[in-house]
Amino acid sequence: MQNFGDISNLKRHVLVVEDELINREILSNILSKDYEVHSAANGEEALRILRSGTCSFSLILADLLMPVMDGFEMIRLLKEDESLRTIPVIVMTSETDAEVRSIKMGAADFITKPYDMPDVILARCERIIELQENKSIIHGTEKDHLTGLYSREYFVEYIKLTEKYKADRKVDILAINIEHFHLLNELYGRKAGDNVLIRIGQILMDLYDEISGIGCRTEADCFYIYCGHDTDYASILNKLNQGLSDTFTSHRIRLRMGVYRDADKSLMVENWLDRAKTACDRIRGDYSTDIAIYNNDLFDQSKFQERLINDIDDAIEHKDFIVFYQPKYDIRGDKPTLRSAEALIRWNHPALGMISPASFIPLFESNGLIQKLDRFVWQEAAKQIGLWKEKYGVAIPVSVNVSRMDIYYPELKENFLRLLRENDLSPKDLLLEITESAYSENAEQLISIVENLRESGFMIEMDDFGSGYSSLNMLTSIPIDALKLDMKFVQNMKKDAKSMKLVELVLEIADFLQVPIIAEGVETEEQLKLLKDRGCDIIQGYYFSKPVPPEEFAEFIEREL
Ligand code: C2E
Ligand code: CA
Ligand code: CA
Repeated sequence: MQNFGDISNLKRHVLVVEDELINREILSNILSKDYEVHSAANGEEALRILRSGTCSFSLILADLLMPVMDGFEMIRLLKEDESLRTIPVIVMTSETDAEVRSIKMGAADFITKPYDMPDVILARCERIIELQENKSIIHGTEKDHLTGLYSREYFVEYIKLTEKYKADRKVDILAINIEHFHLLNELYGRKAGDNVLIRIGQILMDLYDEISGIGCRTEADCFYIYCGHDTDYASILNKLNQGLSDTFTSHRIRLRMGVYRDADKSLMVENWLDRAKTACDRIRGDYSTDIAIYNNDLFDQSKFQERLINDIDDAIEHKDFIVFYQPKYDIRGDKPTLRSAEALIRWNHPALGMISPASFIPLFESNGLIQKLDRFVWQEAAKQIGLWKEKYGVAIPVSVNVSRMDIYYPELKENFLRLLRENDLSPKDLLLEITESAYSENAEQLISIVENLRESGFMIEMDDFGSGYSSLNMLTSIPIDALKLDMKFVQNMKKDAKSMKLVELVLEIADFLQVPIIAEGVETEEQLKLLKDRGCDIIQGYYFSKPVPPEEFAEFIEREL
C-alpha cells in the first residue's frame, strides 16, 4: 500500500495549465496557500512537465481553450498514458457545454470562470485529491500479496457493490480457519506456513466458477468466501483438505469451516463475516466436527467465551481456579487399592458460578491461554503431593493433563524438574497425561519430546485412548507407560457389542505393549466387574469417587493407610 504518512507534512504538487498569464497568477496565488504550484501555458507544455517525472502531481487544473494543444486533447492523451491517467483533472471553463464534454472524457470536476471564491476553489481541489487518494488505497490493497485472493477491505466493497445489483439473490458466507496455524509456523518455519496459505488460495480460486463466489484472506490464516445460497460447502472443505493432504504429506493440516447461511440483508456485510467467523471459532479444538453453521445462540456463546478470556488472569490471582483430585484404584488384587490421582481443574467463577472445564479448556487450548492455566495446575498439584507426602509419609502420585499446546513449550521438562525440586518430589510422583489425538497430529516430534521426558524418569499416560486415530504401527513406536481407555467405550460396553469388542481389543493391545490399562468413567459395579474379568488393571470413575477437593481426597489416603 502506498504510504501517505511520510508525505503528509509536505505540500502536494498541483499543475495549473492556463494560457493567460493573469489567470495563472490568480490561481497560483490562491493555491499556493495549500499546495506546491507548477504552471504550464498549454497542453503540450503540461504533458512535458508531467512526463519529466521530476515530481508526482496530485492534481491538474486545466483550461480548455489554449493554443498549441487545447485542454480536450491534453485530457485525451493523459487518459491514454498508463502512468498519468490516475491524476485527477479539474477543468476551468465558462461554457456549460464544454463542462459536460470534459467530464465525459474523464475530468474529475470543473471550476467556472471567472473564478469562484478562493475558499471554494481550495475546497474543491482538496475534495478531489482526497477522493483519488482513497481510491488508490483501496486499489493498492485490492489483492492479498501472498495468496492472490482479495484483501478483506476489497472483498467487503465487492460484496456491497454486487449486493446493490443483486439484492434479492440469497447468499452464504463461509469462514475457513487453520487449526493451530501458529504451531505450523513454529514447527516448520514461516515459509512452510506461507506455502499452506498459498495452496489454500489456489484451491479457492480454482473453485470460484463452480461456486460463483469470491474469496479473501485476512488475519493470517482466516479465509472468507461469498457465494450463492446452498453452495455445497462440505465439498469445498473436502477439496481443500484433499489438496492440502496431497501437497503436505508430513503434517496433517486441520481446517475448520463456519457457515453463515442465507445472509440477513438488513445487516451490514461486516456482520455477515463476523457471524461466519463466530461459527468457525465455536468448533475450535473440537475434533468431532469441522463444519459449524451459524445460529443466533452462537452469538451468546461467543460473548460468554470473550468473558472467560477476560477473566482468566483475575481468576488465577484470586484462586477462583481450584484443583480437584479423582482417585485411581488398582483392581488387580482382591481388594481395590489407591494407586494415584488425576488433577482436574474447576473454575468457581464469582459471577457465573461453577464452570465446567468443557466450557473453557478447549477455548483456552485454542488461544494459547491453556499454558498459563496448566502451569498453575501443575504447580498446585506438585505442592499438594508434597503436602501429603509430608503428612502421611507416602507420596500419592498425581497425574496432570498436558495439553497439546504445552508439549511444544521448549522449557517444558525444565519446568517440571523445577517443580520436583521445589517440592522435594521424584519424577515418579508427577505423572503426565497426554491425549491420544496429540500423537496422531504430529507423531515424530511428539515422540522425541516424550522420549526426552521419559529419560528424566517421567511417566507418560496416553489419555482418551481410542478416540484418536493412532495406527497400531505407531503405537508400537510410541514410548508410553499407561493407556487410559476413553470413557465412551466403558459407558457403551453394555449397550453395544462393538464397544465391548473394542475394550477387549484395547486390553489386548496394552497387554502386547506391556503397559497397564486405566479405564476411565467407570460408574457401576457391573462395569467394574466386566473390566476386571477382562484383565483391566486400574479404574477411575464415579464408582469410586467424583473428583473432589484436596481435603476430601485426604480421607481416601487415610482410609488406605
Ligand atoms: P479427561 O482428562 O479425560 O478427564 C476425565 C474427565 O472425566 C473429567 O472431567 C472427570 O471428572 C470425568 N469423569 C471421571 N469419572 C467419571 C465418571 O465415572 N463418569 C463421568 N461421566 N465422567 C467422569 P472434567 O473434570 O470435567 O474434565 C474434562 C476434560 O477437561 C478432561 O478430560 C481434560 O481433557 C480437561 N481438563 C480438566 N482439567 C484440566 C487441566 O488442568 N488441564 C488441561 N489441559 N485439561 C484439563
Ligand atoms: Ca486426563
Ligand atoms: Ca481422559
